[in-house]
Amino acid sequence: MKLVHTQNLPSGNIYVLYDEQKDAYIECTSMQDVTVEGKSHTEVRESLDPNVIQKHLKPIEEKWLMTVSTQYGCAYKCMFCQVPSIPFKGNLSEEAIMKQVIFLLSQKPGIKTLKAKIGFARMGEPTLNYKNVLNVIEKLKYLKDGIRFLPCFNSILPKINVEGKYIYEIMDEVLRVKEEVHNGFLHFQISCNSTNEEERKYLFGGANVLTLEEINNYFKDKKITNRTITLNFIMGDGWELNYDKLKIFDPSKFTIKLIPLNQTDRGKQNGLKTYANYSNLEKLERKGYELKQLGFNVVTDAVAKCEEAGLCCGQLIHIYLNNLK
Ligand code: SF4
Repeated sequence: MKLVHTQNLPSGNIYVLYDEQKDAYIECTSMQDVTVEGKSHTEVRESLDPNVIQKHLKPIEEKWLMTVSTQYGCAYKCMFCQVPSIPFKGNLSEEAIMKQVIFLLSQKPGIKTLKAKIGFARMGEPTLNYKNVLNVIEKLKYLKDGIRFLPCFNSILPKINVEGKYIYEIMDEVLRVKEEVHNGFLHFQISCNSTNEEERKYLFGGANVLTLEEINNYFKDKKITNRTITLNFIMGDGWELNYDKLKIFDPSKFTIKLIPLNQTDRGKQNGLKTYANYSNLEKLERKGYELKQLGFNVVTDAVAKCEEAGLCCGQLIHIYLNNLK
């Protein structure tokens, strides 16, 4: 695995690695959280001055945000995502996933941190490669002294069967690792993006995913400790967010996350627009406030304007490969 390109952003780095054996590219990222309170939120997020962002970075010793890829490209073609523009070349091995983790740690030698949040969420749908992904997540528990990992398993929950295991059995495995290996400190995040099932299917590029009702039914009798299950909604303009349909979920088990639709070439080609972004984040926060009235814990977040161009999955490889042509 060879580093071929890096993009430096005010809050961190995006790396393109080349796997010679596969003749394929993957991305991984290392970032810091931008924390801004109250009114200055928009001002900071909209600033094009990197120093303004850097002044608001949470110390990496408190929180380190990383993502790694689980597939070379992706088997799915979500309408908002840039990854499908990169040729799909299958699953990463356990070793290749772990190499990205080691690579990211090696970029900041000697750092100790209370929370190293690591998303198996850059390129690829992790349920399709669940054994390798979960093996790496299990090993994080003992990987490095002074670093407490919070693994994040992010999925669209496709109705798949991998070597005889149906999606529900794969979810059982994720929950086993969450509860038994990481004592509940695993972040299981489910891509929802709309409360309308037809719209969801369209946004997921026609993928046959578990419906919100099926997701809720699955979790009904499951024991969830420490980290709740996150229902992630990318907020596109006109995409349905019907509070009544969300009332089926138990707020003690589920958190709702609202984030803007970040700009990608594919999103633009598919005519998708965001509902809000860094400049009018209060629109998202208002929705968040309304959902809180239903008892949910709600998280809203947006990337800063000067980071939007590079932060989406697959964007940097897309630009890199275009420049090579
Ligand atoms: S959003 Fe995830 S599942 Fe969908 S195409 Fe992108 S990487 Fe694949």
